[in-house]
Amino acid sequence: MTAPSPPRTTSPADALAALVAGNRRFVSGRPEHGHDVSAAASSSGGQQPNAVVLGCIDSRVPLEAIFDQTFGSICVVRSGGHVVDRAVAGSVGFAVGALGVPLIIVLGHVRCGAVTATVEAVRAGERPDGDVGYLVDEITPAVLSVGADSPDAPDKAMRAHVARTVTRMREITGVPEAIAAGRVAVAGAVYDLDTGWVDLLA
Ligand SMILES: [Zn+2]
Repeated sequence: MTAPSPPRTTSPADALAALVAGNRRFVSGRPEHGHDVSAAASSSGGQQPNAVVLGCIDSRVPLEAIFDQTFGSICVVRSGGHVVDRAVAGSVGFAVGALGVPLIIVLGHVRCGAVTATVEAVRAGERPDGDVGYLVDEITPAVLSVGADSPDAPDKAMRAHVARTVTRMREITGVPEAIAAGRVAVAGAVYDLDTGWVDLLA
């Protein structure tokens, strides 16, 4: 059995401000958090994370590092192109419902291989087979919404896909009620591989 979580003191707005501040520390080259074993041990007794972050599997986008977070401070869910299947949705729902996180962030990134592959698949009219095809299927509506043929389609589609994923987060079981009660907020953001900067999407 897990002990009941203590009441939350972090508001959605404060949680978002804390993550943005962490990103700015990361960009400035002055992060607070190393990932040493003493930090692991100090959080081992329980957790009260302040956000769940959904991002891409891209090896250049390590979520704890780019938000300068430590053990116990954020839940992380990653999939190719941050595609949402039932496991992803259930994981986010668990973070909100059981862990009481006040913030859900969807983080896309520039030059996302999954989005680019989907743009190329739509242009060619050829869907990849099998499980990778599932990712392409799930990203295709965002590509179609911006048009596959423009030169900047990958960037536009990535942003549209983040927005669509934010909408999907708001539909996860238990999340609409938490939003209505002011217990959780959902935000979309984009990570710049070159600068390390995270931009919140309006
Ligand atoms: Zn990616």
